[in-house]
Formats: sequence, C-alpha cells, structure tokens
Amino acid sequence: MSINEASYAFGAAKSSIREIAAYGAARKAEIGAGNVFDFSLGNPSIPAPAAVRASIERNAALPPTVLHSYTPAAGLPEARAAVSSSLNRRFNTSYEPGDVYLTCGAAASISITLHALVNPGDEVIVIAPYFPEYRVWIETAGATCVEVMADPETFQVDVAAVAAATTAKTKAVMIDSPNNPVGAVYSAENLSALADALRERSDAFGHEIYLISDEPYREIAYGCEVPWVPAIYERTIVCYSYSKSLSLPGERIGWVLVPNTNPDHDELVFAIAGAGRKLGFVCAPALFQRVLIDCVDEPTNIEAYAANREALTSGLSRLGYHYIEPQGAFYLWVKSLEPDAEAFFQRARDLELLPVPSNSFGCEGWVRLGYCVSRETIDGSMPAWERLAALYE
Ligand code: PLP
Repeated sequence: MSINEASYAFGAAKSSIREIAAYGAARKAEIGAGNVFDFSLGNPSIPAPAAVRASIERNAALPPTVLHSYTPAAGLPEARAAVSSSLNRRFNTSYEPGDVYLTCGAAASISITLHALVNPGDEVIVIAPYFPEYRVWIETAGATCVEVMADPETFQVDVAAVAAATTAKTKAVMIDSPNNPVGAVYSAENLSALADALRERSDAFGHEIYLISDEPYREIAYGCEVPWVPAIYERTIVCYSYSKSLSLPGERIGWVLVPNTNPDHDELVFAIAGAGRKLGFVCAPALFQRVLIDCVDEPTNIEAYAANREALTSGLSRLGYHYIEPQGAFYLWVKSLEPDAEAFFQRARDLELLPVPSNSFGCEGWVRLGYCVSRETIDGSMPAWERLAALYE
C-alpha cells in the first residue's frame, strides 16, 4: 500500500469511545433517546455559561474582515494576555502573554507539545489507565508510549514505578489530573515525589525530562486542591482546553503554557510555535479567541457535576458495584463484574447501558462511566444497572 500505514491503522482501528458513542446515537434513533443510557463520551451536557453566548453575539457585530481574519499563529495578544493574567491571579505567578500559545483544544495542545519535544525513538511515559488518544499522539510524534500503572489502591502516580521505567530515551512524562478515566487528583506530596524522581533521573541520564501536565479538568474538583504543577516541577509544560470547563468541546479552543520559570523557556516557546506551524494549525479559532477575552474567568458549573456524581455513586453503591470515589473530572471508574471488561460491556450493552471498557485505557477489569450526562440518564439507567448486577448473582 502506498498511503501512510500508521494513519491507515489509526483510522481503521477507530477510537472505541467514539465507536460506542456512534452506536449509542444510532440506537437512540432506533428505540428512542430515553431508552439508551450512553455514558461513553466526555461531552458536557451542562450548557456553556450565558456569558459565552453574550460574547459571541457581541463579537458577531464586528466587521466580517476583522471577525473572520487570521490571527497571529500564537493567538490574539489580548487573548493571550487574558489567559496569562487569569493564571497570575489564580496561581500567584508572573506569566507573560508570550508564555501562552492558543490552540485548537487540548488535543492540539498535547500534539504540539509532543512535536516540540520529542525526537524519533524517544520515549514518553503515561500513567495507566490513561486517555487512549495519548498513544496516538505520542506515536505520531515519533516517540514510543511507555505505560506505567498508577498505584492500584489510590490511583496516584506510582513514583517508584515511573522512576524504574525511565531510560536514556525518556523525554517526558504525561500526567492528567483531575484524571480521565479514574477521577484521581494528584496530591502535592505525590507530585513533589514525582518531581524529585524526575530531577534525579534527569541528572542520572544527563538530559532533561519534561512533565506534560494535561489539565482539561482542572476546574472540576470536588472540594480538594488541584496543585499548580509548574510550582512543583520546573520543567513542566501545561496543556489546557475550555472543552470541559466552559462546555465548548466542539469549538476547539485551548492553550499551551510554557511557564517563564521553565529553564528552557525560550527554546521551548520557539519549538511550540514551530510544532504548531509544522502540524498546520495556523491559528486557533478566531471567534473563540475573542470569547476568551470576555469569559476566561467564567466559573465552571461544578455543582451540576457534583450532583451527578452523588446520584451515580449512591445509586451504584446501593446495587453493590465497586468503584473509585472520584475526586475530580466527571468519570466514574467501576469494577467490571467479570474479569473480562469487554464481555461485561457486551452484557451492559444488551441492556442499553453504554460504559467504556477499560482495555482501551490500558488496563483490564474496569469500565468508565462519563457522568457529564443528563440527570435523567443517570436516574433512568438504574433499573438496567440492577438487571446487569442480577446477571452475576
Ligand atoms: N485530554 C484528556 C484527558 C481528555 O479527556 C480530553 C478529551 O476528552 C482531551 C485531552 C482532549 O480535549 P479537547 O477536546 O480539548 O481536545
């Protein structure tokens, strides 16, 4: 075959999360939306804040040649300044607009960061279970994806295991806290231990190991602190998006931050810009850059997710399901009732329940339930979860 084999393979294999979501949409068309309980996709059912609509309407009145123009590749200076000032207010930092590179969401932030960092043959460590697209983006950047299991009890980073997995080729470790899929929030102690280990390993190998902190769920935490990672490890790059915090996943808007405290800041800023150029992103969507100027500090509707979390966890625990109590994000990691999560998923699907089996996240024996769904989906699904549990009695 003369076309690109890796691209063909990624396209042919498809994302199992999106496959299940597509099945759910087709099934809803067949038997009615109220009869299918789709927990597959991290697509917020909470509407974007009213301020977003107001900002879109205000900006829509701009002259079309302004509104629809290209922006600078890194973003409009005012939008970058809105982001850096917001971070400075929240984390007591002194970032500059030039530290912020606006992107088409976290997917672009992570791809750009990986392309900025890795050379062919490098290794990037991910903490399993992990968001499946990480492997696609890491391999596309020419690196090898090295999976290290999280601590099986707490789902915090297993620092000793990460240190043991580092090699002379390790270029970066990727973390995601609040975590998709398990809902863990990494503590300051855990991250400090990781930082110490990465410094020690960098010294031992004589080259830098970077920490890529993917944070699309930063604002969604249930009463616990989400530590600011660049304050703990100096060679951190932060990847962010408004897909979840402002419920804007289809609009594709986010950023990469190269903190001015990163010792390699100047080179990294150029490499991020070069990677964005290389990958053909051109600029982030112009309208939503303008929306950020107005809405960067809009609060996330955490109460709605907290209520969903409560409804789902209390319902499932009454039915005897075992799950990891989520500290953040909007996913519940539920133990499969048989060792084969794929077989458990098939039985769930027969009852119109659509979780995602854990195999796609790099681990066996669990399923992920996204509770960014409507409250009716959660409440309406309980009889089916009860029937599913009864199959295993
Ligand atoms: N990282 C994690 C952990 C995610 O869960 C997602 C989306 O679900 C992304 C990155 C990609 O987010 P975006 O829609 O902003 O590209």
